[in-house]
Amino acid sequence: MSTSSQGAAAHLQRLVGEGNLDSVLQRLKPQHHPLPARFTGATSLSRASVEQRWGILAAAPASPERSTTIAAARAVLDPASAANVSGAADASASVHSNLAPYARNIEYAVGTVQLPIGIAGPLRINGSCTAGDFYVPLATTEAALVASYQRGAMLISEAGGCAAALLAEGVTRAPGLVFETVAQAGAFIAWAVTQEEAFAVVAASTTRHGRLTRTRMTVEGNHVYLSFEYLTGDAAGQNMVTLATDAICDYIVRCAPIKPRRIFVEANLSGDKKACTQSFQSVRGKKVCAEVIVPDELIRKRLHTTAADIAEYWAMTVLGGVISGTIGVQGHYANGLAALFIATGQDAACVSEAAVGITRFQLQGDGSLYACVTLPNLIVGTVGGGTGLPTQAACLDILGLRGAGHARSLAEVAAALALAGELSIVGALSAGEFAQAHRKLARRAPAPSTPSAA
Ligand code: NAP
Repeated sequence: MSTSSQGAAAHLQRLVGEGNLDSVLQRLKPQHHPLPARFTGATSLSRASVEQRWGILAAAPASPERSTTIAAARAVLDPASAANVSGAADASASVHSNLAPYARNIEYAVGTVQLPIGIAGPLRINGSCTAGDFYVPLATTEAALVASYQRGAMLISEAGGCAAALLAEGVTRAPGLVFETVAQAGAFIAWAVTQEEAFAVVAASTTRHGRLTRTRMTVEGNHVYLSFEYLTGDAAGQNMVTLATDAICDYIVRCAPIKPRRIFVEANLSGDKKACTQSFQSVRGKKVCAEVIVPDELIRKRLHTTAADIAEYWAMTVLGGVISGTIGVQGHYANGLAALFIATGQDAACVSEAAVGITRFQLQGDGSLYACVTLPNLIVGTVGGGTGLPTQAACLDILGLRGAGHARSLAEVAAALALAGELSIVGALSAGEFAQAHRKLARRAPAPSTPSAA
């Protein structure tokens, strides 16, 4: 986190500008003047609640940074009620019709954001859990992203498809327990190792689909971390494992002969929503690998480069990754995973852990390219979370993976998609076409605007 003294001096100069440092520092001090109105009724989606929130926003003092009026913002984010502002307050009891589907997914709601959906595919997957030609919905505002994944998907499919194998499953919650001494921690562990069955019974009392499969223990001085690993059915499972682990923590407090001084349901050892090196020794969600062998002629035809060039480029990127200290080695899993997660109602923040893994390209004796990705942290579900929302469920329908029985297949699709993205990006970089593709797709002239329906 250090900065060179020249860099710090230049930055300060930019911050201070024509003014003086004291006035800038003054702005950083706590300010105790009265706050503007706050929102209430976090989970209410009544039209009156939504109306009240927009009223508060409209009444807030205008800032010079605000480039449009709140009324204009409302017309975009909440067009149905904005068009009927005068009538909205009357219908105080009725639920805001556009927001009703989101009742269990949002607090302090004021509207919705739109994103375009593009399709990459057909992507042929010959998987351990799923097989078929998939059209993969991707929600993004990044130009060139869908085109890139489409190109990789076609390459894989023309090569006969990728093999995909689900290698492991499990979602962890890791409570932290504080004791007075390491001796107490040891005595607690001696009891805890006899309790695996009891822990499983307690966990099972909170969920029909979750199952505690493994308990691990880590002692650090007078601290104990317990890692509870669960199977979570077709749900991504983060809520499920939190509720089950919370019940186990209650059991520990009630029944342990040596009581912890403090117990926290999560002590940051699970890897929830962060990239970490333990990924490569375990699993978080689903561990999947996908591989394909691509003939050199096909690489020349579709990627305008060769298998040998890609292999050489990849070797350099591995070292680039080592030098920069990345966790794992991969090109851009986050691009495709974020777009797939948003489209299909996954927790988008889990891309931080899901976009970790190893990509490998290897030149084969016959001149073809062996390409493979392994992602140990694909935390995805086809029930629960945002998967049942109207547009997200529709995207799962495009994949044919909506609802129970499909989470493992979705994980294989996610890995195959990552493989498509890796092939496309190494192809573009090794052929020297990377900048050109972005120039063409991201900086193209805007399409002529169509008149709005209103
Ligand atoms: P959830 O929607 O909270 O729970 C899944 C629900 O689906 C459960 O009620 C489960 O019933 C039910 N279900 C029905 N059929 C199922 C099937 N075939 N397989 C599995 N479950 C089935 O979703 P979740 O996956 O547990 O949690 C995901 C959400 O947690 C995401 O939105 C994520 O953002 C959020 N999250 C939470 C935390 C946290 O610590 N709480 C952390 C990160 C993210 P049973 O429970 O009876 O089995």
